[in-house]
Amino acid sequence: MPWERYHGEFTGLAPWAHPSLWCPRPYPFPVPRRLAVLAILGALLAPLAGCAAGPAPATPTRSTAPAATPTPSASSHIPVATPTMVPPPPAFDRAALSVDDPSSLWVVVNKARPVSPLDFAPPDLVEVPVAHTFVPRLRREAADAVVRLFQAASDEAGLALASNSAYRSYEAQQRVYDSSVASNGQAFTDRRTARPGHSEHQTGLAIDIGAVSGRCSLDPCFGTTPEGLWLAANAWRFGFLLRYPADQVAVTGYDYEPWHFRYVGTPLAAELHTTGTATLEEFFGLPPAPGYP
Ligand SMILES: [Zn+2]
Repeated sequence: MPWERYHGEFTGLAPWAHPSLWCPRPYPFPVPRRLAVLAILGALLAPLAGCAAGPAPATPTRSTAPAATPTPSASSHIPVATPTMVPPPPAFDRAALSVDDPSSLWVVVNKARPVSPLDFAPPDLVEVPVAHTFVPRLRREAADAVVRLFQAASDEAGLALASNSAYRSYEAQQRVYDSSVASNGQAFTDRRTARPGHSEHQTGLAIDIGAVSGRCSLDPCFGTTPEGLWLAANAWRFGFLLRYPADQVAVTGYDYEPWHFRYVGTPLAAELHTTGTATLEEFFGLPPAPGYP
């Protein structure tokens, strides 16, 4: 790192040429005459060598009181890193991954940005070994993160989480959507359930999480349960984003869903958390998607 780099450059000199070997230092105690002569020679040579230390006494005194022990800052020739030498951390690269490719961890899917191609299916789906109402499948990296997330909820807060839904194929989403339209009408359904080809669940990166108890499952009241509160505060640490916040309906196009979490990977989740950015649309400069085009 910076200090090492600087140190490496500085000590690029041959060992015998290191300034600490020939730069004169103040003498903290009386020395014999022969050494005093050497000290004088050293003092005379010092300017030629470019030594940076404070001036050494040309003639040692015979004071009985020992001089103050030289401090490292006064006598050391070891370079010390200064804040000006530390390069700033690199800015987060918002173009590192695609927001269009459905196999990208950063893909943005909403009512204006369908999964493309519409029949996309992730290549690395695995079952997620956690409590569930329906056997959950996710992309491998997201599945591993869910396991860590659920374990942390248990270890840190004594909470038992369960998956209510994870990967859904285009066909599965069609069935869910059609069923909801039949029961609740299209206007209600479009605020709660994506049309086939427009669901994050089709990417294998989204999961609906509830409590094992089933309390408030898939209901806005989940956000007030201990499980919902813990998830809202901690999911980012494991690479997840609460995708449909209560105050972002005009951007996301969906009502508040405190149970729906989208895996984006820990670097992006941490950046969103640090910058206080609520939606992927805002972070990536994409237009809001309140409705279907
Ligand atoms: Zn969901």
